[in-house]
Amino acid sequence: MTAHVLLKDEFLLSGILERQRAAFLREGAPGLAERTADLTKLKRAVLAQKRAIEEAINADFGHRSAYETRIMELAPVVQTINYLRRNLKKWMRPERRRIAIHFVPARSYVVHQPLGVVGIISPWNYPLSLALMPLATALAAGNRVMLKPSELAPATTAFLKRLLADLYSEEKVSVVTGGAEIGAMFASLPFDHLAFTGSTSVGRSIMKKAADNLVPVTLELGGKSPGIIGPGADLDAASMSIAYGKLANAGQTCIAPDYVLVQRDQADAFLSGYKDAVAKLYPDGARNENYTSIINARHMTRLRDLVEDAKKKGAHAVEMFPGGLARIGAQKLAPIALTDVSDDMAVMQEEIFGPILPIVTYTDIDDAIAVVNDRGRPLALYYFGSAGEARRKVLERTTSGNVTINDTLMHYVQADLPFGGVGASGMGAYHGIEGFKSFSHAKGIFEQARWNLGGLLRPPFNRITDISIRYLFW
Ligand code: NAD
Repeated sequence: MTAHVLLKDEFLLSGILERQRAAFLREGAPGLAERTADLTKLKRAVLAQKRAIEEAINADFGHRSAYETRIMELAPVVQTINYLRRNLKKWMRPERRRIAIHFVPARSYVVHQPLGVVGIISPWNYPLSLALMPLATALAAGNRVMLKPSELAPATTAFLKRLLADLYSEEKVSVVTGGAEIGAMFASLPFDHLAFTGSTSVGRSIMKKAADNLVPVTLELGGKSPGIIGPGADLDAASMSIAYGKLANAGQTCIAPDYVLVQRDQADAFLSGYKDAVAKLYPDGARNENYTSIINARHMTRLRDLVEDAKKKGAHAVEMFPGGLARIGAQKLAPIALTDVSDDMAVMQEEIFGPILPIVTYTDIDDAIAVVNDRGRPLALYYFGSAGEARRKVLERTTSGNVTINDTLMHYVQADLPFGGVGASGMGAYHGIEGFKSFSHAKGIFEQARWNLGGLLRPPFNRITDISIRYLFW
């Protein structure tokens, strides 16, 4: 891109932000009725255009299971909107706080005020829900939104631009399109809050840019989320859950179990359970309508390279579809399990984001905990096994964004739970009341009463002041 084009883009982006901010300052915080109406029309429009959404995402992926789009994109958006509408009235009420006895009869309370203009940058892997869920939450909190979806999902991005332009004025919601350069420019704008969903490396540069303008950030990043098969776990159920969580969207899910930790003497049984589970989920392999493609050739090459690197360093690759990679179409990658993996392999160092499952063995639960803690804090952790010492240790001694016990992915769709990372997997949260709070300013207000004891501590000081101070020191 030439410097001239970039300057023009910068001018355009700043112009949108200025207009949104001016409208926010002019019109103030929207009331409950306006926020509810904004959410309702979004839900209606999304449901009315289900087919168009499925087609757009399918076009972006080359092939995306329509069921996955319904279950993992449309349903979470609708459920989030329903949850926000149900709770908004309660969250918008001033929250009474306690005051010390010597301030009675004054009052203290907290008001959640919209921040103003929120910037949202979203990724390609769930291009609809990861754009619309933060957008709906920011609107529920009374903000205006500038959204920059991913350039790697152009059909969905074009759809979002049309959809949101039909529903809202540009002063309320505006969609900006473009790749990394526009993204960098977007992240440099002086928003009132910036929410980013994407990779840890880009998240780092986003935070640096936001720091220049003291813009607070919510960073929803990735990482290596472990699945731990604890002592006494139901191996069949665990392998089915891990296969489902790993292979949904062909592994291109931020909270997919990245690798699995299994007790050494159970590794063979787990591998055979995993094979059976894959065969049950996708009986006709890559031809199955519900097995999704890899987003593009670059990611295909990246994933094949991960397998080759692991094989070269001593791993054993087990392909799960009959016929293996050779028979699979250009952008589909067969599920692969890797055994005999070690830490020097790239597959154990970077987030996989594809249908490859390293099986790591351990002897003692402390070893499994050490494997998790040797890496950046994960976005999710999955533990399989009943309540007991091992489970308690894992939950206490590891720190991850969220946890699901005896299943995978499901914490994500609990509307009332906060969702977000910690450390390398991000900061801040949306979903739950935490989402509403992320996009609000909690303004503490103290309202003095007409008759109060404040005068006792003002000059001229005297004996009464001394008695009052004695009371305060008590
Ligand atoms: P990405 O970081 O490459 O891109 C995300 C967004 O950032 C896109 O809109 C992109 O255009 C923009 N971008 C790229 N470079 C930029 C820059 N230098 N400055 C500003 N913006 C820039 O991520 P991706 O490949 O789209 O998504 C995959 C990653 O996202 C994985 O690491 C995955 O784990 C993570 N992810 C996290 C969550 C979560 O909720 N925590 C959800 C989905 C994906």
